[in-house]
Order: sequence, then C-alpha cells, then structure tokens
Amino acid sequence: KAPPTLRDLFRIAQGHGDRTFVVYRDERVTFTGFSRAATALARALTAAGIEKGDRVAIAMRNLPEWPVSYFGALLAGAIATPLNAWWTGPELAYGLRHSGARVLIADGERFTRIAPHLGECPALQRVLTTRMEPDPRATPLSDLVGPPADWAGLPDAPPPDIALGPEDDATLFYTSGTTGQPKGAVGTHRAAATTVMAYPYSAARTYLRRGESPPKPDPSAPQRVALLVIPLFHVTGCHASLGAALYGGHRLVMMHRWDASAALDLIEAEGCTSAGGVPTIAWQLATAAREAGRPLPSLDAITYGGAPAAGDLVRTLGAVLPRVVPGTGWGMTETSATFTHHQGEDYLAHPDSCGPPLPVCEVRIVDPLGEALPPGAVGELCVKGPNVVRGYWNDPDATADVFSEGWLRTGDLARADAEGFLTIVDRIKDMLIRGGENIYCCEVENALYAHPDVIDAVVLPVPHPTLGEEPGAIVVLAEGAATSPEAIRAFAAERLAAFKVPVRIVVWDGLLPRNPAGKVLRASLRSIFAEPSD
Ligand code: ATP
Ligand code: MG
Repeated sequence: KAPPTLRDLFRIAQGHGDRTFVVYRDERVTFTGFSRAATALARALTAAGIEKGDRVAIAMRNLPEWPVSYFGALLAGAIATPLNAWWTGPELAYGLRHSGARVLIADGERFTRIAPHLGECPALQRVLTTRMEPDPRATPLSDLVGPPADWAGLPDAPPPDIALGPEDDATLFYTSGTTGQPKGAVGTHRAAATTVMAYPYSAARTYLRRGESPPKPDPSAPQRVALLVIPLFHVTGCHASLGAALYGGHRLVMMHRWDASAALDLIEAEGCTSAGGVPTIAWQLATAAREAGRPLPSLDAITYGGAPAAGDLVRTLGAVLPRVVPGTGWGMTETSATFTHHQGEDYLAHPDSCGPPLPVCEVRIVDPLGEALPPGAVGELCVKGPNVVRGYWNDPDATADVFSEGWLRTGDLARADAEGFLTIVDRIKDMLIRGGENIYCCEVENALYAHPDVIDAVVLPVPHPTLGEEPGAIVVLAEGAATSPEAIRAFAAERLAAFKVPVRIVVWDGLLPRNPAGKVLRASLRSIFAEPSD
C-alpha cells in the first residue's frame, strides 16, 4: 500500500536510524541526523509563521542540506518548491515570483546569483543560506539546525502538528523548459508518495511476469549504495533516487558535479551498487569504464531515462559491464518521475521500449481528434494515474489545455504494443512534416547513431518553399573518424525511406549543447538550417 503522504515516507526513513544516508565528499549523515535536522527546520519554519500551503523554495546543488530543506518544508505543511540550480539570477527570481515563495533556502553560489534580484520578489520574507560567508540579508541555515556533523545530536523532537492528507499539495517542480518557459507542476502528497513506490512495484513485476515470486526484502542484506548523479531539483532525482533511498534505507553518494572519471573513482571507493541518470550519463560512464579497463565490481544496476537513449546504449552497457542490470523508463515532471519502467530481461527483449506503464497507471494513444488508436499505431501519449500532478501552479489555462478528466496529454508521440510496452517516437513539437508526411526526428537520429563513427546526432527542420520542411542533421563524429557527410547520408539512405533521409548533414565540433536534463538544445541549433535549401 502506497504511503499516502510524504510525512509517512519520512517516518519510514526515521526507522533506518544510524545507517548512513548521505555521503558528500568527506561528510557522512545518518538517517537519524537527517530526520532530526529536517524536524528542527520544520519547527523553526512553523515558529516563523510558515503555514500550510505556503511555498518554501530550495535553490542549491545536491548537498546533504537539500533533503533536509525539502522535508523541513514538507513537515511544516509547506509546498516544497525546488528551483533549478542551473538557473541564472533572473531565472531564479522568476521561480521565486512565480511560486510566490515566502522562504528561500539557498547555497552560496545560488545566493550570489539571486541576491541582486531579491527586491523583485515581493512575497519573499526570509532567506536561509548554507555553505557561504554570513550575509546581512540572510540567516545561516546552521543557526537553525547546526552543521551536518552535529545533526544526529539534535533533540529528538516531534515535527509540527499539522493536519496533512494525501490530497494536500506537497511539491512544486519546474519542467526542464525544453520547449519553452518552464512550467510549475504542482503535485499532491499522494502523487509524490505513489511515485516513490514505483521502483519496488516495477521490480516485482519482472519476477511476476516469469511466474516467480519477488525476493523478500532481507534486512540483513548489505546496504544498497546509489551514486546520485542527477539533480535533486528534478523529479527523477527527488522522487526516484531520494525517495527510494528514504524508503529502502539506501545510501546516497552525492557528486559535486558530473565527471565520468570521478564517478568511476567514487563508485569504487564507496562500493556503489547502482548509478543512473540521463542516457548520456550512462553512455559516458560505460565509455569511461571501458577506456580505463575498470569493471566496477560493486555495480549491479544502471537506470536511465528522461531523454531518448542514443542508439544501442543497452547493448553497449551489456558489452562493457555485463553484470549490470540495465533499466530504463519514461516520465515527465507532470508524472512525478517514472511512469513507465522496465529492466533486465524485459528491457533486453524490448530494447527500443521505455517499458510498460507502472501498475495502477493507464495510457492511451490517441489521434489528433482524441480518439483512441489500436496497438502499434503512433499517436499522442495520454496518461492517467495517482502519480500525475494536479496541474500547473496558478495557470488554469495551461492546466485546462492538457489536463482533463484525470487524463494528461503529454505532447509526446508513442506507440504501445499489444503487451503494453511503450515506445516513445518523438515529441509532437519536434516532429517534422515534409509535404504532409510525418518524419519522427528520433527515428532519423537512431538511423544516424547506427553509423559506427556517429556518436551524437540531432535532426532539425530545413525549410523548403513547397514541401514546408525537410530533415537536416547535425552529427558529432568519434575522434579520428574519417567519414564524410555524403557517406553518412548514403548510410542513412540504406536504412530510411528516401523522404526521411537528411538533405543536409553538418558535422559539429565538440559535444552538442544539452540542457542539464540531458536534452539537446534544439532551439539554439535551428538557425543552422534557417536558410531554405532551394
Ligand atoms: P518542458 O515541458 O518545459 O518543455 P521537458 O518536457 O523537457 O520541458 P521534463 O518534464 O523534464 O521537461 O521532461 C519530460 C519529457 O522528457 C517528456 O515529455 C519526453 O519528451 C522526454 N522523455 C522523458 N523520458 C524519455 C524517454 N525515455 N525517451 C524519450 N523521451 C523521454
Ligand atoms: Mg514537457
């Protein structure tokens, strides 16, 4: 049974006691230390007048203070509002104004960016800071909860006595802003708590499919240790990684910033059993492990999602790290992270699929008129389930556009097979239409990835006076590759119908620009093909 509120999840986490919960550089925090600090913060917020439904914004990189701030806000009855740590000062100010946050908890780097804009955020009453020199405009978080090393010694006090139910708002997460202005997705305690249960459910399903019963959790088994690469301010980091650790008593090893060779060191030094992130990160990890000849013996699982997986990532992983069980999923901020998921043999049997929907979730593939399509047909993916957020914060129009009668129109194109395995085909906004024929960029990109010298690719429209648009491609070649755009075109032409073959191929120097969520910044690349080809 899913815990109905995040406060129940917090109680479960308290039960893990003196186990190590977070490792960050040479700092170690136990579950007790985390829970005492979060409780102390919640009590301080309540004492300062924070009430149920107020927004408490968090702007910091992955640090031990992040989960403390998040649960401090939740236990005070506030809506925890994580802001994107990569945002600039004006973007952070936008998030504060948009959410109407009364309190901001920031690390030094974020505070420095936002400080010149504090006057633009009228609802903001209090700023708490960590990891910086004292500043007259802010209170150090450690004044309220002490430094991380002392958290376990804080008094064992109860959290504020606030009535919280599953339908109360818990979280306000911003989307990645891949297709426009980031949207504030507001999720209830039920949505967040349900999603935390997603992985145990989904893992059990792999066994059930084979007619076996899932192994019982063994309390004496060694602690699971997860390398946390993805940011906590995205739902996958917060609900899937942090939530799973709180629920299962796992250890989270926080990375200062993503670096594949530092990740190898950390995995070995901390004995990490799992790692995950966006597909590019999994690919870089596998490549670094292969180049360094390091078999990463402690690692038994790698899970990724959030963006289309490049080519045959799952086969590369199998070749480099054969003992690792690969897993993948699809989800969006609006579905509180993972909505579909599969791993191991299910995934290997359906390598292009992002898995079936989680139990208790439903999907429908519809045509442009909203009519349900049969298995195998490509249409817009619509989803329904307890993990879907209730709408966009303070934006009834945007909410009404895509949420209706419990269903969410995702803006993604997908097909489902008869067994329910889903394959994401493209975003509707990325799809090209060449003289009335649909071209899915992901399909063309996959044909390009199949070329052994192509390590990254993006397909974008080339304007055409009569056809409207044609596909063009930007590719990144492996170091020392001797191929040419013409040869890549010929290669693609063997795999794709003629109208889908890119009419222009540009070789890009270096990595394609991606946002921190791992998604190619298509808008910034479109100008390359802005001039009509004929
Ligand atoms: P915005 O909504 O602000 O434009 P965004 O949609 O990128 O940004 P997120 O909520 O972080 O913001 O990402 C969800 C989207 O990511 C999905 O709608 C889908 O397009 C893409 N995505 C997620 N998982 C996968 C996957 N496994 N394969 C392909 N695409 C995926
Ligand atoms: Mg989106």
